[in-house]
Amino acid sequence: MKQKGTLLNTQLIKDLTIEEIGDDHVPGSYETPLRSDAFEMSDEVKMQLIENHFREIMTIMGMDLNDDSLKGTPKRVAKMFIKEVFSGLNPENRPKIKLFDNKFKYNEMLVEKDITFYSYCEHHFVPIIGKAHVAYISSGKVIGLSKINRIVQYYSKRPQVQERLTVQIANDLKETLETEDVAVIMDASHLCVASRGVSDTSSRTVTAHYSGKFKLEAVKAEFLNHTKQV
Ligand SMILES: [Zn+2]
Repeated sequence: MKQKGTLLNTQLIKDLTIEEIGDDHVPGSYETPLRSDAFEMSDEVKMQLIENHFREIMTIMGMDLNDDSLKGTPKRVAKMFIKEVFSGLNPENRPKIKLFDNKFKYNEMLVEKDITFYSYCEHHFVPIIGKAHVAYISSGKVIGLSKINRIVQYYSKRPQVQERLTVQIANDLKETLETEDVAVIMDASHLCVASRGVSDTSSRTVTAHYSGKFKLEAVKAEFLNHTKQV
């Protein structure tokens, strides 16, 4: 018998049809599923094609694209997809990060909290809006604080599931900072839950990733204490 509800086994998910999965959100792998030819087409060609297709979608829905208010929408949506809200799909847009020596020999955790992020649910293409709290313990190198915000924003600007987004940010920070001692918490509202479906406007989704020293109860507790909302 096939399992309903939250499925964590990707093999099980692959065996299900879209009708069987229904409206549930199912996590897949931690890599964003991209085609091998994802970046062979230029941004300009992509925008032109999306514009054409989006005009078609609006027309199918019965909208009059000759109306002054609507005629610019397909072009606007295409530009927004490629240059803004999904620009994090392209590895060329990853922020350039410079490492600095930890001159002050600060060996405690550094916490950057309440980082605002906007992402998009890849199952419904509507926004996920939330706050990220990120911490690391330097292994000898540090990065500029704003770069942590930029890494969060880069991975957010993709069609996402929150579990994958959390792990992608943590993995990037581990690699960049050359340390396993990284923690990420993401607390977000999903408009696919708030504005449609069950229409619950107050529920939030929290995901967390702890590695290295952050797996130790005392270290994790200190991080959670720092991120506590007052
Ligand atoms: Zn959704």
